[in-house]
Amino acid sequence: MNHDRLTVVIAAYNEADSLPALQPRIAAVLDALARDGVDGQVLYVDDGSQDATWAVMQQLAAADRRIALLRLSRNFGKELALTAGLDRVEEGAALILDADGQDPPELIPQFVAKWREGFDDVHGTRMGREGEGWLKRATAHTFYRVIGALSKTPIPADTGDFRLLSERALHALQQLRERHRFMKGLFGWVGFNRVAIAYHREPRVAGRSKFNLWRLWNLALEGITSFSTAPLRLATYLGLLSALVAFLYGVAIIVKALLWGDPVAGWPTMMSVILFLGGVQLIALGVIGEYLGRLYDEAKQRPLYLVDSWQPARTVLPAQR
Ligand code: UDP
Ligand code: MG
Repeated sequence: MNHDRLTVVIAAYNEADSLPALQPRIAAVLDALARDGVDGQVLYVDDGSQDATWAVMQQLAAADRRIALLRLSRNFGKELALTAGLDRVEEGAALILDADGQDPPELIPQFVAKWREGFDDVHGTRMGREGEGWLKRATAHTFYRVIGALSKTPIPADTGDFRLLSERALHALQQLRERHRFMKGLFGWVGFNRVAIAYHREPRVAGRSKFNLWRLWNLALEGITSFSTAPLRLATYLGLLSALVAFLYGVAIIVKALLWGDPVAGWPTMMSVILFLGGVQLIALGVIGEYLGRLYDEAKQRPLYLVDSWQPARTVLPAQR
Protein backbone atom coordinates (compact mmCIF):
# COMPACT_ATOMS: atom_id res chain seq x y z
CA MET A 1 0.00 0.00 0.00
CA ASN A 2 1.12 3.52 -0.67
CA HIS A 3 2.15 5.16 2.60
CA ASP A 4 1.75 8.87 3.21
CA ARG A 5 3.47 10.45 6.17
CA LEU A 6 1.67 12.98 8.32
CA THR A 7 3.01 14.73 11.42
CA VAL A 8 0.60 16.56 13.68
CA VAL A 9 2.51 19.49 15.19
CA ILE A 10 1.18 20.90 18.46
CA ALA A 11 2.65 23.88 20.30
CA ALA A 12 1.74 23.86 23.96
CA TYR A 13 2.35 26.43 26.66
CA ASN A 14 1.03 25.49 30.10
CA GLU A 15 -1.42 22.96 28.72
CA ALA A 16 -0.94 20.18 31.30
CA ASP A 17 -4.71 19.94 31.75
CA SER A 18 -5.61 19.96 28.07
CA LEU A 19 -3.13 17.44 26.66
CA PRO A 20 -4.46 14.31 28.39
CA ALA A 21 -7.91 15.15 27.01
CA LEU A 22 -6.60 15.82 23.51
CA GLN A 23 -4.17 12.96 22.93
CA PRO A 24 -6.75 10.10 22.96
CA ARG A 25 -8.77 11.97 20.34
CA ILE A 26 -5.70 12.37 18.14
CA ALA A 27 -4.66 8.75 18.69
CA ALA A 28 -8.10 7.55 17.58
CA VAL A 29 -7.85 9.64 14.42
CA LEU A 30 -4.34 8.36 13.68
CA ASP A 31 -5.52 4.76 14.15
CA ALA A 32 -8.26 5.34 11.61
CA LEU A 33 -5.84 7.01 9.20
CA ALA A 34 -3.36 4.15 9.56
CA ARG A 35 -6.00 1.80 8.16
CA ASP A 36 -6.17 4.20 5.24
CA GLY A 37 -2.45 4.03 4.53
CA VAL A 38 -1.37 7.19 6.36
CA ASP A 39 1.57 6.92 8.77
CA GLY A 40 0.65 9.45 11.43
CA GLN A 41 2.89 10.91 14.11
CA VAL A 42 2.40 13.59 16.72
CA LEU A 43 5.04 16.16 17.59
CA TYR A 44 4.42 18.07 20.80
CA VAL A 45 6.42 21.24 21.31
CA ASP A 46 6.70 22.42 24.89
CA ASP A 47 7.08 26.18 24.59
CA GLY A 48 8.85 26.63 27.94
CA SER A 49 5.82 25.77 30.06
CA GLN A 50 5.98 26.46 33.77
CA ASP A 51 3.44 23.84 34.78
CA ALA A 52 3.59 20.06 34.41
CA THR A 53 3.20 20.12 30.61
CA TRP A 54 6.59 18.50 29.92
CA ALA A 55 6.02 15.70 32.43
CA VAL A 56 2.58 15.06 30.95
CA MET A 57 4.08 14.96 27.46
CA GLN A 58 6.65 12.40 28.55
CA GLN A 59 3.94 10.20 30.01
CA LEU A 60 1.99 10.42 26.76
CA ALA A 61 5.11 9.64 24.71
CA ALA A 62 5.93 6.65 26.91
CA ALA A 63 2.49 5.25 26.17
CA ASP A 64 2.43 5.89 22.42
CA ARG A 65 5.38 5.21 20.09
CA ARG A 66 4.07 7.71 17.54
CA ILE A 67 4.74 10.72 19.78
CA ALA A 68 7.83 12.89 19.37
CA LEU A 69 8.69 15.62 21.87
CA LEU A 70 10.54 18.88 21.54
CA ARG A 71 11.19 21.24 24.42
CA LEU A 72 12.36 24.79 23.94
CA SER A 73 14.75 26.47 26.35
CA ARG A 74 12.12 29.02 27.40
CA ASN A 75 8.80 30.45 26.26
CA PHE A 76 9.32 31.77 22.73
CA GLY A 77 5.67 32.31 21.83
CA LYS A 78 3.36 30.28 19.67
CA GLU A 79 4.73 31.34 16.29
CA LEU A 80 8.30 30.34 17.13
CA ALA A 81 7.20 27.17 18.91
CA LEU A 82 5.36 26.15 15.74
CA THR A 83 8.39 27.04 13.65
CA ALA A 84 10.56 24.84 15.86
CA GLY A 85 8.10 21.97 15.46
CA LEU A 86 7.72 22.36 11.70
CA ASP A 87 11.51 22.51 11.30
CA ARG A 88 11.69 18.98 12.73
CA VAL A 89 9.32 17.51 10.14
CA GLU A 90 11.58 16.18 7.44
CA GLU A 91 9.22 14.28 5.21
CA GLY A 92 5.54 14.06 4.51
CA ALA A 93 2.89 16.58 5.39
CA ALA A 94 2.53 18.53 8.62
CA LEU A 95 -0.72 19.45 10.29
CA ILE A 96 -0.87 22.19 12.90
CA LEU A 97 -3.27 21.83 15.80
CA ASP A 98 -3.88 23.86 18.96
CA ALA A 99 -3.21 22.00 22.20
CA ASP A 100 -6.46 23.12 23.81
CA GLY A 101 -8.86 21.15 21.63
CA GLN A 102 -10.27 24.28 19.96
CA ASP A 103 -9.36 22.80 16.59
CA PRO A 104 -11.16 19.44 16.65
CA PRO A 105 -8.76 16.60 15.71
CA GLU A 106 -11.73 14.67 14.34
CA LEU A 107 -11.52 16.91 11.25
CA ILE A 108 -8.01 15.70 10.37
CA PRO A 109 -9.32 13.03 7.91
CA GLN A 110 -11.04 15.81 5.92
CA PHE A 111 -7.74 17.70 5.71
CA VAL A 112 -5.97 14.52 4.66
CA ALA A 113 -8.57 13.85 1.97
CA LYS A 114 -7.96 17.29 0.44
CA TRP A 115 -4.20 16.75 0.69
CA ARG A 116 -4.57 13.47 -1.21
CA GLU A 117 -6.56 15.32 -3.86
CA GLY A 118 -3.38 17.32 -4.40
CA PHE A 119 -3.82 20.44 -2.31
CA ASP A 120 -0.70 21.83 -0.61
CA ASP A 121 -2.27 24.15 1.95
CA VAL A 122 -5.52 22.96 3.49
CA HIS A 123 -6.66 25.49 6.08
CA GLY A 124 -9.54 25.55 8.49
CA THR A 125 -11.78 28.59 8.30
CA ARG A 126 -13.79 29.31 11.41
CA MET A 127 -17.56 29.46 11.03
CA GLY A 128 -18.15 30.34 14.65
CA ARG A 129 -16.15 30.77 17.82
CA GLU A 130 -17.74 29.33 20.88
CA GLY A 131 -16.62 30.30 24.33
CA GLU A 132 -14.95 33.50 23.16
CA GLY A 133 -16.26 36.94 24.08
CA TRP A 134 -17.77 39.42 21.62
CA LEU A 135 -14.77 41.73 22.03
CA LYS A 136 -12.33 39.05 20.86
CA ARG A 137 -14.58 38.08 17.98
CA ALA A 138 -15.11 41.71 16.93
CA THR A 139 -11.41 42.62 17.11
CA ALA A 140 -10.41 39.43 15.27
CA HIS A 141 -13.00 40.19 12.59
CA THR A 142 -11.74 43.76 12.12
CA PHE A 143 -8.13 42.62 12.12
CA TYR A 144 -8.62 40.12 9.27
CA ARG A 145 -10.37 42.82 7.21
CA VAL A 146 -7.60 45.40 7.82
CA ILE A 147 -4.73 43.04 7.10
CA GLY A 148 -6.58 41.74 4.04
CA ALA A 149 -6.82 45.27 2.68
CA LEU A 150 -3.23 46.25 3.51
CA SER A 151 -1.27 43.13 2.64
CA LYS A 152 -0.32 42.17 -0.91
CA THR A 153 0.12 38.57 0.26
CA PRO A 154 -3.24 36.80 0.36
CA ILE A 155 -4.22 36.14 3.98
CA PRO A 156 -7.54 34.29 4.17
CA ALA A 157 -9.97 35.79 6.71
CA ASP A 158 -10.98 33.97 9.90
CA THR A 159 -8.29 31.38 9.33
CA GLY A 160 -6.12 30.41 12.25
CA ASP A 161 -3.17 28.09 12.34
CA PHE A 162 -5.28 24.92 11.95
CA ARG A 163 -3.90 23.70 8.65
CA LEU A 164 -2.19 20.97 6.73
CA LEU A 165 0.90 21.68 4.64
CA SER A 166 2.13 19.28 1.98
CA GLU A 167 5.79 18.39 1.92
CA ARG A 168 6.69 20.98 -0.71
CA ALA A 169 4.75 23.75 1.04
CA LEU A 170 6.42 22.80 4.30
CA HIS A 171 9.89 22.85 2.78
CA ALA A 172 9.13 26.25 1.30
CA LEU A 173 8.00 27.54 4.69
CA GLN A 174 11.15 26.18 6.32
CA GLN A 175 13.19 28.49 4.10
CA LEU A 176 11.56 31.62 5.53
CA ARG A 177 13.84 32.45 8.43
CA GLU A 178 12.62 35.89 9.47
CA ARG A 179 12.50 36.64 13.18
CA HIS A 180 9.19 38.44 13.28
CA ARG A 181 7.00 35.61 12.22
CA PHE A 182 3.42 36.24 11.43
CA MET A 183 2.57 32.66 10.49
CA LYS A 184 -0.77 33.35 8.83
CA GLY A 185 1.05 35.65 6.42
CA LEU A 186 3.96 33.28 5.87
CA PHE A 187 1.57 30.48 4.90
CA GLY A 188 -0.07 32.85 2.44
CA TRP A 189 3.28 33.89 1.01
CA VAL A 190 4.19 30.28 0.23
CA GLY A 191 1.19 29.90 -2.04
CA PHE A 192 0.66 26.65 -4.05
CA ASN A 193 -2.79 25.02 -4.22
CA ARG A 194 -4.91 26.20 -1.35
CA VAL A 195 -8.29 25.14 -0.13
CA ALA A 196 -10.36 26.06 2.92
CA ILE A 197 -12.36 23.75 5.16
CA ALA A 198 -15.09 25.40 7.19
CA TYR A 199 -15.33 24.36 10.84
CA HIS A 200 -16.73 25.40 14.17
CA ARG A 201 -14.14 26.49 16.67
CA GLU A 202 -14.88 24.78 19.95
CA PRO A 203 -14.37 26.15 23.45
CA ARG A 204 -11.12 25.22 25.19
CA VAL A 205 -11.17 21.82 26.94
CA ALA A 206 -9.23 23.20 29.92
CA GLY A 207 -7.12 26.14 31.07
CA ARG A 208 -7.43 29.64 29.70
CA SER A 209 -6.38 31.53 26.60
CA LYS A 210 -2.86 32.96 26.59
CA PHE A 211 -3.83 35.69 24.19
CA ASN A 212 -5.29 38.66 25.99
CA LEU A 213 -6.20 41.86 24.16
CA TRP A 214 -2.73 43.35 24.54
CA ARG A 215 -1.04 40.28 23.04
CA LEU A 216 -3.59 40.25 20.23
CA TRP A 217 -2.87 43.93 19.55
CA ASN A 218 0.84 43.13 19.34
CA LEU A 219 0.11 40.20 17.05
CA ALA A 220 -1.89 42.55 14.85
CA LEU A 221 1.01 45.05 14.75
CA GLU A 222 3.33 42.18 13.87
CA GLY A 223 1.07 41.10 11.06
CA ILE A 224 0.70 44.55 9.59
CA THR A 225 4.37 45.54 9.82
CA SER A 226 5.53 42.15 8.52
CA PHE A 227 3.27 42.11 5.50
CA SER A 228 2.70 45.71 4.57
CA THR A 229 4.61 48.93 4.26
CA ALA A 230 1.37 50.87 3.90
CA PRO A 231 1.82 52.64 7.28
CA LEU A 232 5.12 54.07 6.04
CA ARG A 233 3.42 55.36 2.94
CA LEU A 234 0.66 56.76 5.12
CA ALA A 235 3.29 59.03 6.71
CA THR A 236 4.21 60.33 3.26
CA TYR A 237 0.60 61.08 2.40
CA LEU A 238 -0.07 62.71 5.76
CA GLY A 239 2.98 64.91 5.15
CA LEU A 240 1.84 65.82 1.65
CA LEU A 241 -1.65 66.58 2.89
CA SER A 242 -0.50 68.83 5.71
CA ALA A 243 1.98 70.59 3.38
CA LEU A 244 -0.88 71.30 0.97
CA VAL A 245 -3.15 72.57 3.73
CA ALA A 246 -0.30 74.68 5.13
CA PHE A 247 0.33 76.20 1.70
CA LEU A 248 -3.31 77.12 1.15
CA TYR A 249 -3.54 78.55 4.64
CA GLY A 250 -0.31 80.53 4.06
CA VAL A 251 -1.72 82.07 0.88
CA ALA A 252 -4.90 82.99 2.72
CA ILE A 253 -2.92 84.69 5.54
CA ILE A 254 -0.77 86.68 3.11
CA VAL A 255 -3.76 87.83 1.05
CA LYS A 256 -5.57 88.81 4.23
CA ALA A 257 -2.53 90.75 5.53
CA LEU A 258 -2.14 92.59 2.19
CA LEU A 259 -5.81 93.58 2.03
CA TRP A 260 -6.57 94.35 5.66
CA GLY A 261 -3.17 94.93 7.28
CA ASP A 262 -1.56 92.77 9.94
CA PRO A 263 -2.50 93.46 13.53
CA VAL A 264 -0.60 90.90 15.65
CA ALA A 265 -3.01 88.13 16.55
CA GLY A 266 -3.43 84.44 15.93
CA TRP A 267 -2.14 82.86 19.15
CA PRO A 268 -4.90 80.20 19.10
CA THR A 269 -4.33 79.29 15.43
CA MET A 270 -0.56 79.15 15.96
CA MET A 271 -0.85 76.90 18.99
CA SER A 272 -3.27 74.51 17.33
CA VAL A 273 -1.14 74.27 14.18
CA ILE A 274 2.04 73.62 16.18
CA LEU A 275 0.39 71.00 18.37
CA PHE A 276 -1.28 69.31 15.43
CA LEU A 277 1.92 69.12 13.42
CA GLY A 278 3.86 67.94 16.49
CA GLY A 279 1.37 65.11 16.94
CA VAL A 280 1.49 64.10 13.29
CA GLN A 281 5.28 64.10 13.34
CA LEU A 282 5.45 61.92 16.44
CA ILE A 283 3.03 59.42 14.93
CA ALA A 284 5.10 59.25 11.75
CA LEU A 285 8.27 58.81 13.82
CA GLY A 286 6.58 56.04 15.77
CA VAL A 287 5.61 54.25 12.58
CA ILE A 288 9.18 54.48 11.30
CA GLY A 289 10.35 53.26 14.71
CA GLU A 290 8.16 50.16 14.47
CA TYR A 291 9.84 49.18 11.23
CA LEU A 292 13.31 50.19 12.38
CA GLY A 293 13.00 48.13 15.56
CA ARG A 294 12.07 45.08 13.53
CA LEU A 295 14.97 45.71 11.19
CA TYR A 296 17.24 45.88 14.24
CA ASP A 297 15.95 42.53 15.54
CA GLU A 298 16.44 41.03 12.11
CA ALA A 299 19.99 42.40 11.86
CA LYS A 300 21.07 40.69 15.07
CA GLN A 301 20.79 37.32 13.32
CA ARG A 302 20.12 35.37 16.47
CA PRO A 303 18.75 31.83 16.17
CA LEU A 304 14.96 31.82 16.12
CA TYR A 305 14.67 29.52 19.14
CA LEU A 306 16.82 27.24 21.29
CA VAL A 307 16.06 23.59 21.90
CA ASP A 308 16.31 22.11 25.38
CA SER A 309 15.60 18.52 24.43
CA TRP A 310 14.43 16.48 21.47
CA GLN A 311 12.94 13.05 21.63
CA PRO A 312 12.02 11.53 18.27
CA ALA A 313 9.09 9.18 17.83
CA ARG A 314 9.85 5.49 18.18
CA THR A 315 7.92 4.36 15.13
CA VAL A 316 9.76 2.61 12.32
CA LEU A 317 9.51 4.38 9.00
CA PRO A 318 7.90 2.31 6.24
CA ALA A 319 11.09 2.65 4.19
CA GLN A 320 13.09 0.98 6.97
CA ARG A 321 10.71 -1.90 7.48
N1 UDP B 1 0.86 28.70 22.84
C1 UDP B 1 2.23 28.51 22.78
N2 UDP B 1 3.06 29.49 23.28
C2 UDP B 1 2.58 30.66 23.82
C3 UDP B 1 1.18 30.84 23.84
C4 UDP B 1 0.36 29.86 23.34
O1 UDP B 1 2.70 27.49 22.30
O2 UDP B 1 3.39 31.48 24.26
C5 UDP B 1 -0.05 27.65 22.31
C6 UDP B 1 -1.12 27.21 23.28
O3 UDP B 1 -0.63 26.22 24.14
C7 UDP B 1 -2.17 26.68 22.34
C8 UDP B 1 -2.06 27.59 21.13
O4 UDP B 1 -0.76 28.18 21.22
O5 UDP B 1 -1.92 25.36 21.92
C9 UDP B 1 -3.14 28.65 21.10
O6 UDP B 1 -3.14 29.38 22.31
P1 UDP B 1 -4.47 29.89 23.01
O7 UDP B 1 -5.47 28.78 23.05
O8 UDP B 1 -4.07 30.48 24.30
O9 UDP B 1 -4.95 31.02 22.02
P2 UDP B 1 -6.42 31.29 21.47
O10 UDP B 1 -6.96 29.97 21.01
O11 UDP B 1 -7.18 31.85 22.61
O12 UDP B 1 -6.22 32.26 20.35
MG1 MG C 1 -7.13 28.35 22.11
